[in-house]
Amino acid sequence: TFMDLRQKCASELSKLDADLYPIGAVVPLMESYHYKELVDVVMNSMMHLPDNTARHLMGAGHPMIFALAVAMGCDLFDSAAYILYAEDDRLLSTRGTFKLENLQEMPCSCEVCSKYTPDDLRAMPKKQRRDLIAQHNLHVSFAELRLIRQAIYEGSLMELVEERCRAHPALLDAVRQLSNYTEDLEKYDPRSKKSAFFYTGAESLKRSEVLRHQQKMTAMPKKRDLVVLPPSRKPYSKFISGKLGEFYVYGNKGEFDGENTDFMVLDVPFGLIPLEVDELYPLSQSATPKIRDKDSLEFINQFFSEFIEDYNQVLVHSRLKDTLDIELSDKFEDEEIRYKKDDVRKLKAIADYQFGWGAGESLLKGNINVEKSKKTGKIRHIYDGKTLIVNMRASDSYLVLSKEGAKRLHGACEYPKNRVVVNKDSEPFALDGKSVFSKFVVECDENIRSNDEVLIVNEDDRLLAFGKSLLSAVEIDNFQTGQAIKTRKGFKK
Ligand SMILES: [Zn+2]
Repeated sequence: TFMDLRQKCASELSKLDADLYPIGAVVPLMESYHYKELVDVVMNSMMHLPDNTARHLMGAGHPMIFALAVAMGCDLFDSAAYILYAEDDRLLSTRGTFKLENLQEMPCSCEVCSKYTPDDLRAMPKKQRRDLIAQHNLHVSFAELRLIRQAIYEGSLMELVEERCRAHPALLDAVRQLSNYTEDLEKYDPRSKKSAFFYTGAESLKRSEVLRHQQKMTAMPKKRDLVVLPPSRKPYSKFISGKLGEFYVYGNKGEFDGENTDFMVLDVPFGLIPLEVDELYPLSQSATPKIRDKDSLEFINQFFSEFIEDYNQVLVHSRLKDTLDIELSDKFEDEEIRYKKDDVRKLKAIADYQFGWGAGESLLKGNINVEKSKKTGKIRHIYDGKTLIVNMRASDSYLVLSKEGAKRLHGACEYPKNRVVVNKDSEPFALDGKSVFSKFVVECDENIRSNDEVLIVNEDDRLLAFGKSLLSAVEIDNFQTGQAIKTRKGFKK
């Protein structure tokens, strides 16, 4: 498998201006069910191939591994597998391969499977049988590809991968091995998706969304004390307020000061979730089983124990006594612990989480008016006096900039944070509010992911426009064609 050679080969190949990059010599790995090694081979090649060119996983034609391969960045598969398997009286399925001789029932509901029984097929002449099995194999392959495209569209590809990898223990090894590459995969993962995050097992703990949230949490500035709450219905902040119940003290016991305290919910899989930002995707748009597995409990305990080191006093809700494996014996009885909701504090926390710590203070200064939806009660528009600063997107609670918001954000964060820098030639187009194409981008914030709000500036950091990124930073760097940013407005006078 020789990973260093794979990397070198991919690097050299990427210098060619090819229409397609093949990843080959993987058939022996797949034939022998060495899917774990397959993941290393493919990922080590992918990391060194350009993102703007299709990658063909040579010899991979089994629908059982399509979802996994797509998650790793493969675009094309083998076109002969369906007939080769049919030649051998083998029927493909996303659950594995069925030998005709072992079949009592047909494996799907395609035309062939609906019309014939395994006995019918076995009684047929070889050629007729082969053609019918091939027809079934093709049907199954195309159905899986359609399902994968739908999953990409709605943002549930990893859920599909985790489901498919339950078909064989060797595939489960593959998805576990893939978790070693989460940092690479995260760079391509949109921050917000149409579908909710579903926890399907311990493998879900290693997904991009979890890593991303925990990185944000580790980097956030912390208040003096921390109050840790058990999960309620989601969004937590809708159901948690006022008196919070009984608490234990962990760490140095002191007075309770609500203003100098972070309030967070402890839950699977994200660990700790600040109450102010809990409506952001995927923190509320996620579902986990009520019966927790040992891996996920260990996982949140591990995160908890590292995270609380920076706090002076940690107040843990009594209902978390069984969840946390720390010694809790000292009850906090000095006063009632309360949580007071505050829209402006919430908005500042969301802005900090979204744009970087400190952004909230600059973005939301002045005489802040919050307009809420009459129907849902959710925050919709945020003004300073009568000037619109940001809107809140109903689907995922991320902030969407207005002209004033873009100016404030530009002043609040340092170059190149939240920025896409365009070359001189495209300046007038950006000022005019025209969309930005990848090839005109000279630099951008490496933390940009598709659907993020971005500032469009020139090389002297003059604010030209603002809009929504259609790609992630690595893709903007790599792509030579196509739109990168859908511009919302330009700053032409
Ligand atoms: Zn069928």
